[in-house]
Amino acid sequence: MNVIAPILTEQDHQDRQLLESVDRFLDRHVRPVAMQLEHDDTYPQDIVDRMKEMGLFGAVIPVEYGGLGLSAATYSRMIERIAAVWMSVSGIINSHLIMAHIVDRSGTEAQKREFLPRFATGELRGGLALTEPDAGTDLQAIRTTARRDGDHYVVNGTKTWISNGIEGGIFALLVKTDAAAQPRHTGMSMLLAEKGPGFRVGRKLEKLGYKGIDSAELVFEDYRVPADRLIGGVEGRGMACAISGLELGRINVAARGVGIAQAALDESVRYVQQRSTFGKKLHEHQAIALKLGDMATRTEAARLLTQQAARSFDRGERVDYEAGMAKLFATEAALENAIEAMRIHGGYGYSKEFLVERLYRDAPLLVIGEGTNEIQRLLIAKRLIERNPI
Ligand SMILES: Cc1cc2nc3c(=O)[nH]c(=O)nc-3n(C[C@H](O)[C@H](O)[C@H](O)COP(=O)(O)OP(=O)(O)OC[C@H]3O[C@@H](n4cnc5c(N)ncnc54)[C@H](O)[C@@H]3O)c2cc1C
Repeated sequence: MNVIAPILTEQDHQDRQLLESVDRFLDRHVRPVAMQLEHDDTYPQDIVDRMKEMGLFGAVIPVEYGGLGLSAATYSRMIERIAAVWMSVSGIINSHLIMAHIVDRSGTEAQKREFLPRFATGELRGGLALTEPDAGTDLQAIRTTARRDGDHYVVNGTKTWISNGIEGGIFALLVKTDAAAQPRHTGMSMLLAEKGPGFRVGRKLEKLGYKGIDSAELVFEDYRVPADRLIGGVEGRGMACAISGLELGRINVAARGVGIAQAALDESVRYVQQRSTFGKKLHEHQAIALKLGDMATRTEAARLLTQQAARSFDRGERVDYEAGMAKLFATEAALENAIEAMRIHGGYGYSKEFLVERLYRDAPLLVIGEGTNEIQRLLIAKRLIERNPI
């Protein structure tokens, strides 16, 4: 149930149909099984197979390469819907599509023709491998190296926290091709690394929430990757690739935040009309009504910021400012709404039989991933000064 209907922009007939079919898919195939799969931390293979059939792994891949060619605005509305039902399912598509977006934006024509159609069908799925045990926010501190050896690169190093790391077969891998380069980013490159000899999963990582989707450590030991898998074909562009991927990534994460915030609100609006204390329904207590007012306002503001960032992205503008604000606000909204929903549900909010317990465990990831919210604030401030010099 929506208290306030989502504001739909740029919608045409096809987009509406797609969003309606996503709603049907969620109602039939995700909602009934999400709680059990999540509690068991089981990879949702059946859901993944159905998403492949629907073409969702090609959501933002251009039509000419076999994708659906959705705008970021429509894509983010789709992600919002999925995250409201089970955030982990959105993660399976999101990291894969960030990798695809990097190839689309920065790859050579040959790389686009070779990989994007296979990404679009979901035949070849994967994600983005940036983070290392000693480098997350400070990506220029990564230690994974790729040394050129004839027509191959030889990769050594370890990545951690990689979404889809176990189930995925290919990753956009950030490496150092010149570890001594200054400034450091000029020695960084991105490779398309397909699983094979020398590339193994170190271990599955256990988490507070975001269960079902696999998060893994990936280990590279003299892993040989053909040199034509260097994205864009030129060394030194790795950070630029990562940044362009993270722009879409931040819109993704903002949309997930809107989905979680909306779900927390919806659960609360339902519950306050069922539960009574002191002879009144919960919503008739002013202290609870105030919470609902704040939760609804936060959700709608988060949605508007997310749609605004997505539309700027669709116009081809640089969107780190807008996407940063959307990511910051929407994910904090998710966190606040999740805890308010738990308070409103009282003891039941702490029960594994209620959805709000999962929302409370899923929401914190959003303030960490795709650039922590501390970093978003710093980036927003930096752009603010750049745009307003005196
Ligand atoms: C479930 C999950 C899934 C993930 N999926 C992926 C994935 O698919 N691919 C991938 O590459 N990574 C992934 N990550 C990693 C994630 O992107 C990093 O955890 C995140 O970027 C933060 O890096 P860090 O954990 O190393 O924290 P750190 O960089 O060590 O930061 C620690 C704290 O210090 C703060 N901080 C750091 N530098 C500054 C600064 N200059 N100013 C102010 N504050 C600062 C941070 O905001 C944070 O609060 C995932 C993480 C999780 C938990």
